[in-house]
Amino acid sequence: MISTRSYKTWKTRNGYTITRVISGRSNVYLFSNGVMNFLVDTSVVRLWKKLERRLEFLDVRHIDYLILTHSHYDHTANARKIRDKYKTKIIAHKHEESCLATGEMEIPMGTTLITRFLVKLLAKRLAPLFRFETSACDLPMDETFDLQQFGINTYIMHTPGHTSGSVSVIVDNEVAIVGDAMFGVFRGSVFPPYADDVEQMVKSWGKLLETGCGVFLPSHGSANSRKLVERNYHRRIRNFVKSDMTLSSDESN
Ligand SMILES: [Zn+2]
Ligand SMILES: [Zn+2]
Repeated sequence: MISTRSYKTWKTRNGYTITRVISGRSNVYLFSNGVMNFLVDTSVVRLWKKLERRLEFLDVRHIDYLILTHSHYDHTANARKIRDKYKTKIIAHKHEESCLATGEMEIPMGTTLITRFLVKLLAKRLAPLFRFETSACDLPMDETFDLQQFGINTYIMHTPGHTSGSVSVIVDNEVAIVGDAMFGVFRGSVFPPYADDVEQMVKSWGKLLETGCGVFLPSHGSANSRKLVERNYHRRIRNFVKSDMTLSSDESN
């Protein structure tokens, strides 16, 4: 039996509902304006049955679009199954398209001493475990993909850094679904343990703050408040602003 307590939901001013369908290993969110349903990410392959059951329990009969925040296996593993079962169109950034087509993800870099060491030590050996069922990308996007075309005040925005094609979904200018651009696992920190380009990722936090959203829903862990994201952003952006300034003064010499 599925307790209704399993489903955390958020409601925006235009009455859109965001439901966390799966939590724990990797979150899966469903957002709906009551007419169209959008799924964000799909979690890992061993949770497919659970995802199916929960979508049934929520009486989801159609999924119009599946948005993939990026092409790591813990987000994309069930994309093909969703596409086949619901005749869903997949939206992902164009930089992630080739990984979806091959079912092979690029192992991200570690961002801490421990994760850097782990990636160095284990990445090659574990790579086969990270393969996933291949899937088409029906709508490859670039900088933004606007759902205004469906009469929905929501857009998908390129927020690179964790991977080069990471995207976030900005629902009603209130709630951002951010994939792995942030984590919600560590107390006081939104910093993910893995990212291809930390500077780009922190700059993407700045872009996400500019949307005016008050809540940031990560793929791992629980919701991050705006205050927490602001604190993390201001603490980390200093390092990169400094290096930008050094660069421009070097150039002027
Ligand atoms: Zn990831
Ligand atoms: Zn992830």
